Amino acid sequence: MGEPSRADDRLIVWFDIDNTLYSASSNISHAMGIRIQAYFLSLDLDPEEASELHLKYYTQYGLALRGLTRHHDVDPLDFDRKCDGSLPLEDMISYDPSLRKLFEDIDRTKARVWALTNAYRTHAERVLRILKLDDLIDGLVYCDYLVKDFSCKPEPVFYEMAMKQAGITDPSKCYFVDDNRKNVDAACSVGWGHCVHFCEKGLEAMEGGRIKQIDDEREPGAVDNSVVDVTTLQELRQVWPEIFKAS
Ligand SMILES: [Mg+2]
Repeated sequence: MGEPSRADDRLIVWFDIDNTLYSASSNISHAMGIRIQAYFLSLDLDPEEASELHLKYYTQYGLALRGLTRHHDVDPLDFDRKCDGSLPLEDMISYDPSLRKLFEDIDRTKARVWALTNAYRTHAERVLRILKLDDLIDGLVYCDYLVKDFSCKPEPVFYEMAMKQAGITDPSKCYFVDDNRKNVDAACSVGWGHCVHFCEKGLEAMEGGRIKQIDDEREPGAVDNSVVDVTTLQELRQVWPEIFKAS
């Protein structure tokens, strides 16, 4: 993953990682949820209170850890080790050649490709490596757990920070895809030009479905916008033909 070059006026495509680059049917969110729940319990909360707070923080902040650091003085790195860090990811997700091909087919003379995640760097890099996409990603914007009161999606400041890190000033040049509708709406609100909501089909029966449900919900009173829905990432070829190599 390289550093952004100074005068790079190409478009930029931002991919969310979790539940976007792999199917939510991998149940990683569920496994993560169990660990987060255990973490809440280790803070001496009773189980009911724990699951309530987990959902509350996830809904309110887009990330349970954001609430934990804010209200419970939790060490984010300890949390990361025990939650994301302990997931047997290699057994849960695997390399998908068609996804790699999708990334390879993006015309790099026109667009750069970055990842934009609410996870910490170690988890993000691990996922990208397992999916064999790490060499096709030009940069990674993640939640920096080392920074006190770090920001995350869908906070507008997180998208602004992402643009700064990528050295891009024109938000209309930003392409973005995420499975969390609030994250997509937020990108749209800060002026990102081409926002796509990835909504996989057929996940209703999944365990841990409440988090997924929260991901698909919009803020109350959210206004109509130009967000496009796709059910597979391959549909991006049709939605964003201008960034793909001519076949
Ligand atoms: Mg996601």
